[in-house]
Amino acid sequence: MADKDYLLLRTMECPVCGEKFKYPTVKASSSKLIGTDKDLRPIHDRLDVNKYDAIMCPICGYSAITRYFEGVADIQKKKIREKICSGFKSRGELPEEYSYDIALEHYKMALLNAVVKEAKHSELAYICLKISWIYRGIAEQTGQFSSHYPGIKETEKEFTEKAYQNFTEALGSENFPMCGMDETTVDFLLANLAEITGRYDDAGKLVSKILVSPSAPARIKDKARDMKEELLDRKKE
Ligand SMILES: [Zn+2]
Repeated sequence: MADKDYLLLRTMECPVCGEKFKYPTVKASSSKLIGTDKDLRPIHDRLDVNKYDAIMCPICGYSAITRYFEGVADIQKKKIREKICSGFKSRGELPEEYSYDIALEHYKMALLNAVVKEAKHSELAYICLKISWIYRGIAEQTGQFSSHYPGIKETEKEFTEKAYQNFTEALGSENFPMCGMDETTVDFLLANLAEITGRYDDAGKLVSKILVSPSAPARIKDKARDMKEELLDRKKE
C-alpha cells in the first residue's frame, strides 16, 4: 500500500503569509509503533512516519517542524518574509504523500527557516536529529551506496553531530521541557548521540547523571544501566 493510505489531509493557515493549504499527516490509528532506534527514531510498521513531521507552506516557503509551525513571533515572521518568502516560487499545493526527496526538502527548508528566524538551539538540534533519521530511512530503503545519494552514511553522521552540538548548547541555556521532552529523556537521548559520535566519556557522564537522578523513571534507569555496561565493555576493547 502507498503512504497515502495511512495519511489524512489537514488544513493549516500559514502564520507567515496567511494563506490556507492542505498538508498530509499520519492517521493515528493506521500504523503501529514497532520500535525505536537508540536515538529515539520511531519505527512504524506501515510507513516511515518521520517523513511527515516537517511542514512547508507551498505558497511562501515558510517551513518548520510541526510542533513549532504555528509558534512564530512577529519579528521572526519579518525576517522570514525578507529572506525566505521573497525568493520562493509558489507551488500552489503540497503533494498528498511524500517521497524521501520531498521530505528532505521540507526538513532542509525548516532548517534554513530556523537559522533565519534565529531559533533556539533545541529547535535546531531537533531538526538536525530528524534530518539524520530521514537519511537513515533512505539508506534502509535504497542501500548505503545509492548513486542518487552518495555518501549517505557520512551525511547522516554530520547531522547527528550537529544535533549533538546543538542539544549540548541547549542543555546549558534552556529550560525543560525541551522539544516536548523532559530532562531525563534529553539526557538519555544526548548520551546516545554522544555514543554514536564516539564521545564515550561524555556518554558515561550523562548515563551516571540519569542513574543518580531521583526523578528518572525506572525504565530509563534500566536502559541507562545497560548502556553503562556497553560503555565499560567498549573501554576494555
Ligand atoms: Zn505561507
